[in-house]
Amino acid sequence: MSQKIKVAVDGPSGSGKSTLAKKIAGELGLVYVDTGALYRAVGLYAARAGVDPAVSSQVTALLPQIQLSLGYTKEGQRVVLNGEDVSAQIRTSQAAVYASKVSAIPAVRKFLLEIQKKMASEGNVVMDGRDIGTVIMPDADVKLFLEASPAQRAHRRYLELQAKGERVTEEEVLDAVLQRDRADSTREIAPAVPAEDAIFIDNSQLDAEQTLSRALEIIREKLRRLR
Ligand code: C5P
Repeated sequence: MSQKIKVAVDGPSGSGKSTLAKKIAGELGLVYVDTGALYRAVGLYAARAGVDPAVSSQVTALLPQIQLSLGYTKEGQRVVLNGEDVSAQIRTSQAAVYASKVSAIPAVRKFLLEIQKKMASEGNVVMDGRDIGTVIMPDADVKLFLEASPAQRAHRRYLELQAKGERVTEEEVLDAVLQRDRADSTREIAPAVPAEDAIFIDNSQLDAEQTLSRALEIIREKLRRLR
């Protein structure tokens, strides 16, 4: 594809954003940027420092100690926190809770803005997150908003956590998912809401390949109209 394109994929946890965004990247030859990983890395740092992720002043005081970068290998995106590859460590349910809490702190969002804007400005990217279509890439060529029923999203997260050996019940996962969604969509800064020009895909009844087909249809149609 000669033209540099930008695709935004937003939606709540467990809606299948990362699965979809990775497949779009593979299909269209774009770089996939998982922005949640950045919030998770800040959350992990706060957890390791023994800081309450909900206390803005304490988390803000840690930020000057944090150096974050994203790298790309054949295994996909790697997140490097002060020289350490923490890509696996940020995938726990504790890191998710911490990520959601620190993400409501304005200084944290500001801290992570530059790295995300830089990736966005390079183009040929598909980024997933909560505020990609509204804040990070308001100029994206295509904005997708993925949805699925809470039960379906919790079920997917449950299977992922189980595969990693976390001992949780599906009910606990559903509670955590609902709580995180509520916090993410009602926070004052960059709430996780769809952009006005986002196109919705409800994938409660679709598998990953069907979701990809639908997304590609939307993207190709949009790009045809832009040319
Ligand atoms: O997508 P993921 O579950 O990895 O995101 C972890 C948390 O990071 C989310 O619950 C949300 O609070 C936060 N986040 C955000 N903005 C983004 C991406 C993630 O606030 N663009």
